[in-house]
Amino acid sequence: MVGSWDKKIKFALLSIVSNATLIIFKVIAGILSGSVSIISEAIHSGMDLVASLIAFFSVRQSAKPADRQHPYGHGKIEHLSGIAEGLLIFIAAAMILMEATKKIYEPIQLEHANLAIAVMLGASLVNLLVSRKLYKVAREEDSMALEADALHLKTDVYTSLGVAVGLVLIKLTGLLILV
Ligand SMILES: [Zn+2]
Repeated sequence: MVGSWDKKIKFALLSIVSNATLIIFKVIAGILSGSVSIISEAIHSGMDLVASLIAFFSVRQSAKPADRQHPYGHGKIEHLSGIAEGLLIFIAAAMILMEATKKIYEPIQLEHANLAIAVMLGASLVNLLVSRKLYKVAREEDSMALEADALHLKTDVYTSLGVAVGLVLIKLTGLLILV
């Protein structure tokens, strides 16, 4: 039990560290490139960080043994973590949409395109690796919180990739950023 507890905590921490790192890189790339898509992605990673913190605390809490108030143990809290994660994704999506519609009316030129593309491709790869690892551990340890985080990060692989593809098109065609 102690061994699996350690493992769940460790991988919940991995998600926190990777999301925090992604925020830093996306903020830098967003500011340097002036791309609202990347700034939106940074906001998104901020939400991901909150989600991974919730997963971390629920994994830690669920490992507590049953007591008088919780005769069946603390495993149920991982379900709440999954629900919270879903809500956060929804909020992040709404915020990104708001940012994007604002920018449609004030298009800007893309700067440091190569750096911006590299950061988004890197973010996509990091999320791919982290989500795969988390999913494997979630299955092994039967952890709902880690599984929710893993599935979420798996969808983030495609959002980052989508932004990267958009930036490549902008670079190739010389178009202004519209989204
Ligand atoms: Zn996300």
